Formats: sequence, structure tokens, C-alpha cells
Amino acid sequence: MTDSSNNLYQMYKNMGIDRNVCVFCDKIWNSLKERFEKIDEISEYNQMKVIGAMQKNRVSEACLLGTTGYGYNDLGRDTLEAVYADVFHTEDALVRPQITCGTHALALALMSNLRPGDELLSPVGKPYDTLEEVIGIRESRGSLKEYGISYRQVDLLADGGFDYEGIRAAVGERTRLVTIQRSKGYQTRPTLSVTAIGELIRFLKGIKPDLICMVDNCYGEFTEITEPSDVGADLVVGSLIKNPGGGLAPIGGYLAGRRQCIENAAYRLTSPGLGKEVGASLQALGAFYQGLFLAPSVVANAMKSAVFAANIYEKLGFSVVPSAGEERHDIIQAVTFGTPEGVIAFCQGIQQAAAVDGHVTPEPWDMPGYDSPVIMAAGAFVAGSSIELSADGPIRPPYAVYFQGGLTWQHGKLGIMKTLQKLVEKGIVSSDFSHILE
Ligand SMILES: *Cc1c(COP(=O)(O)O)cnc(C)c1O
Repeated sequence: MTDSSNNLYQMYKNMGIDRNVCVFCDKIWNSLKERFEKIDEISEYNQMKVIGAMQKNRVSEACLLGTTGYGYNDLGRDTLEAVYADVFHTEDALVRPQITCGTHALALALMSNLRPGDELLSPVGKPYDTLEEVIGIRESRGSLKEYGISYRQVDLLADGGFDYEGIRAAVGERTRLVTIQRSKGYQTRPTLSVTAIGELIRFLKGIKPDLICMVDNCYGEFTEITEPSDVGADLVVGSLIKNPGGGLAPIGGYLAGRRQCIENAAYRLTSPGLGKEVGASLQALGAFYQGLFLAPSVVANAMKSAVFAANIYEKLGFSVVPSAGEERHDIIQAVTFGTPEGVIAFCQGIQQAAAVDGHVTPEPWDMPGYDSPVIMAAGAFVAGSSIELSADGPIRPPYAVYFQGGLTWQHGKLGIMKTLQKLVEKGIVSSDFSHILE
């Protein structure tokens, strides 16, 4: 035992973590050095992509300032949208503080690119919970369904693969837009790799070339060196309160894709005729630019935290998705505890690691947009931000918790150590790790 690790164990002790938990966690961490190097390589590649796009578009000090009022000739906003278009290799992009979150960005993309009589298809199973009301899977005012836009779904096969036959049968005359969710969201299905998304899009366009293929890119950005827009997606959509905001964006969503799709969305976000020309950026741009600049590195820290969590909990005998050694395509780690107590203890551990609101205790509650009580641990600088260290879980079988984020790896590590400490204290996990470490 070196002095420095003794000092560190003393620091962790001050943070309420027992020495045996520290020793166990460090053993796991020591086995992950190669994985972490690979994550750093992806981050390095994406960092060049972002800086290159900023330089190409001549981002200047003036771009960091905002506008007020109508926001005509907002240099910083227009340049940022050009930067996003270059990062995602698309014709155009819409990146705005007026887009309030990921759900809003996705609703905007759908409502602006579908017309009454069209059909929306999800070939990858049920979409993210909050989209159910947007689509009208659960009745809601103003849903696509209310506007005469129907919805069809083809589930993934039991092994997580695409049901190509089912998809072929589901694409019809009226099918106009296909929504492909990259990340697993609140499900225990696998997250789709960019390669798999590319194969699916090629198949879909083979059936009907003019389909609009949209990817819900939430939590996926910068986890690989390519994005779905590099493999044929017409539109990629996500939240700035997640990966591409880099932890700094205080609000916002983005769409990047074909010029026509983006224009449709801009006409819906502001008004027909006005489109992208209006929409003052207020004081948001500095954080949008700097957040995007930091995003590749922040995403790497979140990925390391997720890999660490997978390895800890798989070793302890819990089912984890993705598994400990699996390649990773988003920043979410699911751990199935099988009991509400496990989910609650995990979330309370994450909360106790927070720099902001570390003293509060999260409890399950009925959140708008979700169909069962949800517990959320989020002590964040940006409220509810899930690129920051956070965890949430719906209180329903199989009682899985979804962990994500960590602006720094050190914080992510502390968070996971805290969850294990909490599970030990509640008697859900035994404090004797010796048999596991042999
Ligand atoms: C988070 C998320 C959303 C919704 O984004 P919000 O910013 O929470 O509204 C949609 N789809 C997926 C896959 C997500 O992870």
C-alpha cells in the first residue's frame, strides 16, 4: 500500500466509504486500464472533429455574444448551427435555446416532417417514454394521432436484432418517417451501434428510397467516432442537456440533417415564413460553444464511469446492460436489482456523491410524461442534467436502475463507490468481497 493510496483511502473514509469498498473498487478499476485507453482514443478523434468544425466556420469572440428581441442576423447562432452541421456531416442544423429539451426536439422533428395521413414507423420497438404522448401511443392533447398521423411499431427480435421481415411488411404507402432510437433509454434492450443503424437505414431505403430516417441520438453523441448521420440518417436529434451540451449548456436541443427536414422544423419552431431567421440566442451561446468543445472529453468521462459500474455490479452477480466487457454505444448503464429497494439504494448513493444537493434524499414520484413512479438522483449544476452524474429508475419490474454521466471520471468513480456503500449498508450486498476478488 503506497502513501498516496493510503491518503486517498482516508479521503474516501471522510466521504463515508469503507476501506473494503475502496479496495474492491480499486481492484476493478485496475483491470480497466486498456478499456479506458480505447475510450480516450475515441475522445481524441472527436475532439479534433469539434475543433476542426469550429475553426472551419471561423468561430470568433463575437460569436459568443448573444442577441435579444427578434434575433435577426444572429452571427453566433448561425455559426453554431453551421458548426453542428459540420460535426454531424449534414447539410444544416437547428440548435436553439428555444428548444427546451430532447423530447421537445424530437416532437419538433416529428410534427414538422409529418403531415396528416402520413404514418410513422418505429422499427426498433417502443420509443422513449416521453414520446408516447407525442405520438399518441398514450392519449394526449395535440399528439400526432390527434392530427391524423398514425403509428406502427416493429419490435426487436428476442436477441436484439432487427425483424427485417416484420419491417418489410410494415412499410406501406403512407409510411413517411422512420424513427430509430439509438440508446436503450429505460429498457434493457441493447443500444444500437452506428454500424447497426447504418444497416437498418440501408434496408429501409432499399424498400422505399424517399423515407425520412430520423435517429433519436440522445445519449449517443461522441461515444463512437461516427454518428448516425454518417451512415445515411436524414435527421439526428438530441438534447443539449445531455452529451453535446458538455455539461455547460443550460437548456437546448438540436436537429442536424437534410436541409429540407431542418427547414420544416424551423418553420414549426418559429413560424412559417420566419423559420431560422428569428430566435434570439440571449445569453446561451457561450455555454453552447464551450459545452460542445468539452463534450468529447465529458462523454469519455461518462463512458469510463459506466464501464466501471458495469464491471463492479456484474462481479457482484447483478445483470448489467451492456455487460462488463461489451462494446458501448451510449453512456447509459442499466443494472437490474430485481427489487425497488435496490433501485432506491443505488439512486440515494448517487445523490450522496453530488456536489450540489448532496444532502437531499431522492424518493420515487409520479413524473409528468412517465407511466410509473420514477426515482431520480440528480445533484446537478444544470437542473435535471443527465450528462452530470445521475441515476434514475422507474419503479416497475424488472427494477432496473439506469446510471449515466459524470462530468469527470473521478466524480463518476465516487458516485459508484457511494452506491455500493449504500447497498452494503442496507444489507442488499454483502460487505465481504474476498471471495469475489480471488
Ligand atoms: C433523454 C431521452 C429523451 C428525452 O430527452 P429529454 O431531454 O429528457 O426530454 C428521448 N430519447 C432518449 C433515448 C433519451 O435518452
